[in-house]
Amino acid sequence: MGLFDVREANKASREAQGFTMRPMTALPPAPGDDLHPALELANTLQTTPAGTADLIANPESATAWLSQRELLTEGISLGRPCATRLLDLRDAVRALLAGVIGQQQPPETALAVVNAALIAVPTADLLAWDTGRGLHRSARHPLDRATAHLLAVIAVDAVDLLTGPDAAKLAACGAPRCSRFLLRTHAARQWCSVRCGDRVRAARAYARRGMSTGARTL
Ligand SMILES: [Zn+2]
Repeated sequence: MGLFDVREANKASREAQGFTMRPMTALPPAPGDDLHPALELANTLQTTPAGTADLIANPESATAWLSQRELLTEGISLGRPCATRLLDLRDAVRALLAGVIGQQQPPETALAVVNAALIAVPTADLLAWDTGRGLHRSARHPLDRATAHLLAVIAVDAVDLLTGPDAAKLAACGAPRCSRFLLRTHAARQWCSVRCGDRVRAARAYARRGMSTGARTL
């Protein structure tokens, strides 16, 4: 078991946008994806021995992914420059996750990308008042800054994830060549999905059969 190499994953991501990608059915959410949009963003790059799936490889799929998570105002579509910024943030979050799990110094560029997203726009709700609701929180932000806002929301979550109580539960999937990260929602959890767990168990059973066959032939 080892950390999936981020550069390898990024290469896989680029290949996924070309013709070298073998089709793969998207995996179900990894443990913790539902708690942290930053983790879920990191896991949009799914590489396993079955192939690579990049859930946000192009502006259309990135728009759909963000809309499903209510991170993008309805009716707004991401253009290619904004989709690229989202991919850059994903690369940065993946590098930071790998660093915190491997207890290694994070790349300066990854910190810079997250910090740029954090300071680009205010993320705090505004205080608003109207006759119906009185004082209330308002998450209004200018539509022309929608991308900056959603990147900031994900970056804020990344900081919470990487420095908060969940950081100690972060892990890379233990299945060989799986690129996903997860939260160990219970101590024994090692795989990002049933599919990865089954694959490892099948490989172990195969190895055991091989060993017992070898013993009989001696
Ligand atoms: Zn996995």
